[in-house]
Amino acid sequence: MLGQMMSQPLLISSLIEHAEKYHSGGQIFSVNTGGGVEDTTWGQVAANARRLASALTGLGLDPQARCGTIAWNNRRHLEIYFGVSGGGFVCHTINPRLFPEQLVYILNHAEDKVLFIDATFVPLVAAIRDKLEHLEHIILMEPTVGDAADKLPGIIAYDDLLAQGDAGYAWPDMDEYTASSLCYTSGTTGNPKGVLYSHRSTVLHSFGINLADSVAISAAEVVLPVVPMFHVNAWGAPYACAMVGARMVMPGPGLDGPSLVSLIDTYRVSLALGVPTIWLGLLGEAKKSGSKLASLKRTVVGGSACPPSMIKSFREEFGVDTIHAWGMTEMSPVGTVNRPLAKHADLPEAEQHHLRENQGRPVYGVELEILDDDGKPLPHDGKAQGDLVTRGHWILDAYFRKTTEETLTNGWFDTGDVATMDPDGYVTIKDRSKDIIKSGGEWISSVELENIAISHPALADAAVIGARHEKWDERPVLVAVKVEGQDPSEQDVLSVFEGKIAKWQVPDKVVFTDVLPRNATGKVLKRNLREEFGEVLIG
Ligand code: ADP
Repeated sequence: MLGQMMSQPLLISSLIEHAEKYHSGGQIFSVNTGGGVEDTTWGQVAANARRLASALTGLGLDPQARCGTIAWNNRRHLEIYFGVSGGGFVCHTINPRLFPEQLVYILNHAEDKVLFIDATFVPLVAAIRDKLEHLEHIILMEPTVGDAADKLPGIIAYDDLLAQGDAGYAWPDMDEYTASSLCYTSGTTGNPKGVLYSHRSTVLHSFGINLADSVAISAAEVVLPVVPMFHVNAWGAPYACAMVGARMVMPGPGLDGPSLVSLIDTYRVSLALGVPTIWLGLLGEAKKSGSKLASLKRTVVGGSACPPSMIKSFREEFGVDTIHAWGMTEMSPVGTVNRPLAKHADLPEAEQHHLRENQGRPVYGVELEILDDDGKPLPHDGKAQGDLVTRGHWILDAYFRKTTEETLTNGWFDTGDVATMDPDGYVTIKDRSKDIIKSGGEWISSVELENIAISHPALADAAVIGARHEKWDERPVLVAVKVEGQDPSEQDVLSVFEGKIAKWQVPDKVVFTDVLPRNATGKVLKRNLREEFGEVLIG
C-alpha cells in the first residue's frame, strides 16, 4: 500500500519561490565588483532569476546546457544560481584561481555553452577564449559591457540579457533527480573531477544545513558567506538562506581583514562562513582596529582543520562561537558539524571547549564509517584511526562522465581522509591519507602538529610534512612562516610542542619559508613542500 501524500519534486526553484512568497522584503546587501554596495531583496532576486531563466530559454539553449560562472559572491551570482538551475540548466561554478590550462580543461570537459563573468575576470577569459570549444555566449555581470567588448567581442551585459526575460516566467516542472549544478574538485593530482549535483540532493542538503544541530540558519540571521560561491556552492549557503529567507551580505571581491570587519560591523552580521586562513586575517584586523565584532555570534569554519587557538581567540576575545565543520566537494559539501550534546552541559568548561575542537558529528543524511586496510569497520572508540568513507543523500554516486564502479567501493565513497570516531559519533580528521606521517610503523597526524605550531605567537603559518628518514622512513618536519618583524629560533618554535604531545611526535626540524604554497581552494600544497623539503633529514 502506498502512502497518500502529495508528491512534489524537490526543486531548487521551490527554494527561491518560498523566499519570494514569504520573505520578499528580506534584504540582501551586495558589494559590487567596481565598489559600492547594492541593497536588494529576495523578492527582486527571485524576479530577476525568473527573467534570467526566461532569457536563457530564449537563447535556444538545450535543456541541461551547462552555464559556467567565474564570479565573486554578489547579487547577480545569486540570481544566476537560481535562474540557471531553476530554468532546467546546469549552473557550473568555476574557481578563477585555477591555472589557465585547468580552466580550459574544465570548461571543455563540462561543454559550457554560456559563461557569466565578473569584470575582474575579463583578461583571464580573453586569454583562453580561443580554446573554449563549446562556448557560445559570454555574459558580463554588469549593467553595460563598457570596454570589455574590446577584449571579448560579442560579450553581452547581464542587465541587457535580463531585459529580454519575463519576470512572470513560470518555473518548469522537472524530475527532482535532474542535474542542477556542477563543481570540479581542485585536482591537486591529475585533472580536476566534476561533481554533478541534483535538485533533490541540493534541497536535502539545505535541510541538513538548517537543522538545529547543524549550521542552523534562520530568518532572524544576517549571513555573510565569505566562502566563495565558486567553492562547493559557498557550502550550500545561498540555497539554505533562500530556504529560510535569511538576510544576506555578499562580500564581492574584498575578502581581506579590513573589508570583512567593516561589512560585519556595518550590516550587523550574525553568522559568517569561511576557511581558517580568512579568519586569521579577520582576527588580526579586528584586534588592530579595536572592533569588538559585536553583532557576530557564530562563525562556521571548515575546508581545513580549524586551529584550536582560533576557536579560543574568537570565544575569549570576541564572544563568538566557532562551529567546526568538515566536508568536501563530493559531499555537497557538509558531512559533519560540531555541536554539543545535552550531557556536555554538566562538564567543566575547559572540557566543553576541548570537545568543540574536533570536526563534529554526521548530520542526518550522511553516514560515515572508518575502515582498516582490509576494508573492515574499525571501532568507534575515539582511538582507532582508519580511512573515512561515506554514503548518503547528498554524496556523489559517480564523477561527471565516470561510472559508479570507478567512483565508489562497495557503495561507499572513500573521502581520502584518515579519522577517528568516538562513541557519540564525533569525528577527528587526522590527515589526508597521503599526508599522514609514517614514522617507524607509527602514524603521526600532521594536522595535530600544525594546530599546535600555529599557536606559537611568532608564527603566521605552519605546515608539517613527512620528510624521508634513513632509520624511521619518515619523520615530521615543520615548515613555518614567521610573523613579520619576529625572528624565533628553531628551538624556540619547537618548545611550543612541550607537554602537548609525546616526545617522539615532535618534529625533527623546523625550516622557515616566506609563504606556504596553496591550491585554488586555499589548501596547503603538501606535495610541493615535500618536493622542496622532503630530503632535509637525509645525509
Ligand atoms: P578539494 O577540491 O581541494 O578536494 P574540498 O573542499 O572538497 O576541496 O576538500 C575536501 C577536503 O578538505 C577534505 O577531504 C579534508 O581533507 C579537508 N577538510 C575539509 N574540512 C576540514 C576540516 N574541518 N578539518 C580538516 N580537514 C578538512
